Amino acid sequence: MTDILILGAGSAGCILAARLSADPACRVTLVEAGTRPTDPDIARPAMWPFLQGRPYDWDYTTVPQPGTAGRVHHWARGKALGGSSNLHAMFHVRGHAEDYDDWVAASGSQRWSYDALLPHFRATESWSCGGDDLHGDAGPMPILLPEAETHPLVRDFIAGWVAMGQPRLRDHCGRALIGTAPNALMIRDGRRVTTAEAWLTPAVLARPNLTVLTGAEVHRLRLDGTRVTGVELRVEGTEQVLTADRVILSLGAIGTPLLLMRSGIGDPAMLAAAGVPCHLARPELGRNLHDHMLGAGVVCRSKRPVAPSKLQVSESLSYQAEDPARTTGRPEIVVGCVVAPSVAEGFAAPAPGTGFTLLFGVTNPTSRGRLAITGPAPSDAPMIDPAYLTTEHDRHLFRVALKRARAIAASPALANWVAEEVLPGPALQTDAELDAFIARAAITHHHPVATCAMGRDEAAITDADLAMRGLDNLWIVDASVIPSITAGPIHAAVMAIAESFASGFRG
Ligand code: FAD
Repeated sequence: MTDILILGAGSAGCILAARLSADPACRVTLVEAGTRPTDPDIARPAMWPFLQGRPYDWDYTTVPQPGTAGRVHHWARGKALGGSSNLHAMFHVRGHAEDYDDWVAASGSQRWSYDALLPHFRATESWSCGGDDLHGDAGPMPILLPEAETHPLVRDFIAGWVAMGQPRLRDHCGRALIGTAPNALMIRDGRRVTTAEAWLTPAVLARPNLTVLTGAEVHRLRLDGTRVTGVELRVEGTEQVLTADRVILSLGAIGTPLLLMRSGIGDPAMLAAAGVPCHLARPELGRNLHDHMLGAGVVCRSKRPVAPSKLQVSESLSYQAEDPARTTGRPEIVVGCVVAPSVAEGFAAPAPGTGFTLLFGVTNPTSRGRLAITGPAPSDAPMIDPAYLTTEHDRHLFRVALKRARAIAASPALANWVAEEVLPGPALQTDAELDAFIARAAITHHHPVATCAMGRDEAAITDADLAMRGLDNLWIVDASVIPSITAGPIHAAVMAIAESFASGFRG
């Protein structure tokens, strides 16, 4: 019998627990700081923007960002069985196949190509419209492709792009990504489905070789040389130690590097500053942190009432090239349609029902930041610096995306909707004015990655099989191993990473 500890029952951890405990030769313990979610709002798709800051959100904050007018950004992260799949916006987007070529280049392994991941994407999915060679129909996660529910404004948004020469896509999970589609959503019967609900079914939870420990916050790893001998955690106010043959970290792009750092792994200078003795020097740990942002936004006052969304408010994404004439290949920008007036903090929004927002952003940003502990205790707030908008690449493409959002707002397809542009407002036209607006209006798209990035380079934290370099019996399986962000929301990729790892892992 092999004892496996999975730390973190989030999007990846729940999948791993279900998949690895299917082998009766493994004894699996899944450890989660949060509890089983009980808030009924979690299941209501339209409530997703209002869940942040509730007790099941870790609610991290970044340091002030010079690239966004010195603002501090709240980073929601789920703290409950199912992790961030309790909070996310439910979009199911795989990204572009070439995003995964970057993973192959970084890791040196074809394992992370789009084609190699395709069976794992399909294995996680059950599309409402049925399966084909690109889409799964028998996986645990329901994927709703909206049809009749699509808002009339969103229908006009999609038609407008088609009239401007952009492709109409069925969804964002085919080989083509440039084009517009309604957002496919992790929803069944009008309710959000978390990875905990999808994978930790009553039958899975009844397995004698699976233990799920909730309310258990992991403080640090116990290390003996290059082996993890156990983990120290606090369960209902009591300190405990768990041991295992194999340990898998699925604490997410923030939680995983923080646990490693508290355990004495990381950049020696950073550890010394935090008062943690260095056990293993891994200077790259926590570096390479990056995230998507969205400008919020081109906000319009509407000529006619905007009825509430029947879905989750943000109903369509249009991925496009910088050059609008290029309609194949990898996109560089995105414009989204939100059927409610959504703005960044610091701006006044039109009243609900009187306006809407066109979000805009950059698909593959190049700004890179870092994350560090500031002290030895889990209660010491981390230093999170995504270095937002610090490259000219990102600032330039953000301006392009804003102008593209303005173009659809000004198009004949939206003429029956747009009364006036409230934000940025017609007075702002020069690049300097748009840059200043973007710095104040850009918000997180909630996709931090890469703090334990996989790489072929010895300095990389994880290898192509997601084993942590420098330790014998520890693997990392969550958003932190993504070496470079995919073009769209990353949850589909996180699920495929977990599924691929589980298929190849020999306990
Ligand atoms: P998580 O799901 O965050 O899991 C980590 C788990 O570890 C959590 O349960 C946490 O409580 C636990 N944990 C952490 N530290 C400890 C500790 N010390 N001890 C014990 N347990 C611990 N992606 C999309 O594709 N589409 C979207 O629409 C979308 N929208 C988003 C909206 C929001 C508000 C957020 C927050 C995210 C969104 N995302 C979206 C991103 C996506 O949800 C995440 O990238 C994904 O869920 C990350 O999975 P993970 O397994 O890496 O981490």
